[in-house]
Amino acid sequence: MKRVAVSIDDIFKRHIPGPSHVETPERLTAIYDAIQVNFREDELVKLPLRRAEEDILLLNHTEELVRLIETTSHGKGYFSLDPDTVTCPESYEVASYAAGSLLELADNIIRGDVDNGFCLIRPPGHHAEEDRAMGFCLFNNVAICARYIQKTYNMDRIMIVDFDLHHGNGTQRSFYDDDSVFYFSTHQYPYYPGTGALDERGSGKGQGFTLNCPLSAGCDDSDFAAIMRDVFMQAARSYRPEFIIVSAGFDTYIHDPLGGMNVTGKGFSAMGYALKEAAEEVCDGRLLFSLEGGYSMKGLKEGVVGILKVLLERPQDTEEVTMVKEFFKNAAPHNKGARSLIASISIE
Ligand SMILES: [Zn+2]
Repeated sequence: MKRVAVSIDDIFKRHIPGPSHVETPERLTAIYDAIQVNFREDELVKLPLRRAEEDILLLNHTEELVRLIETTSHGKGYFSLDPDTVTCPESYEVASYAAGSLLELADNIIRGDVDNGFCLIRPPGHHAEEDRAMGFCLFNNVAICARYIQKTYNMDRIMIVDFDLHHGNGTQRSFYDDDSVFYFSTHQYPYYPGTGALDERGSGKGQGFTLNCPLSAGCDDSDFAAIMRDVFMQAARSYRPEFIIVSAGFDTYIHDPLGGMNVTGKGFSAMGYALKEAAEEVCDGRLLFSLEGGYSMKGLKEGVVGILKVLLERPQDTEEVTMVKEFFKNAAPHNKGARSLIASISIE
């Protein structure tokens, strides 16, 4: 069995983005309950809480943005940063701990204390730009983590893989002209937030180090598995990152209220399998998942539990994981757009 760490804490339920919002604390309740049902207490390593201090947030964000979000903690009620993105007085603290949990997990993985892990946190982060909170996101957790790893461990090739339904405009923007972080994303397109076209490949020194897979609605497990195998794994082999960070969103789930994709638990497990295989092949297994979107409680549960089973390699899951592996190896894309996308992307 592998040593798999998780960040689980009720503090992450204390960010309330307004009186009626789809990005609810209940998302974490669903995931935490499912973990309790599916895994024994001693099968997962529970990481201690850690706060990302201001100097760490500033690795990716402007002082103005950090100050603005900090200011909302002094008010009494909700504060709208944009129409979708609302804070409560505890949001700044919760968001600082959410970002910090990725740093704690990254340190544990790089020290070799655990093999890999999953930060089961909120608020999500991939839409947050350097100077702007948006799309339910306050701070860009994965971008902060990539900068922290680079600074602390002198790594110059990090790969961020984003399989959320939505394009991670914030993450892309942070590293668009940077060859030290490769950004790979699959997402519904055209869709919120509007970015993520195939021809957005980076600029300057970063040319070729952003790779977008824009997909029409209706893609299923086979489409996503084939893209991960034929595009992502090739890109990872070519780039040879030293660490892989995953923006894990489950809003591609078949019954998700926000999306139009048809992914099931099997598809999420297959994506987890692809990421684990790639990490073992190119970077000693160093792999960190961080929760982004996903608004069906069932989708969140199935996605997170399936990926944790793939990561853990428990003897009792061998049969299930072998089936995932076979599915992944043989998956043929059904969606016309996915097929032509795979054919059109050439990895050097
Ligand atoms: Zn999303």
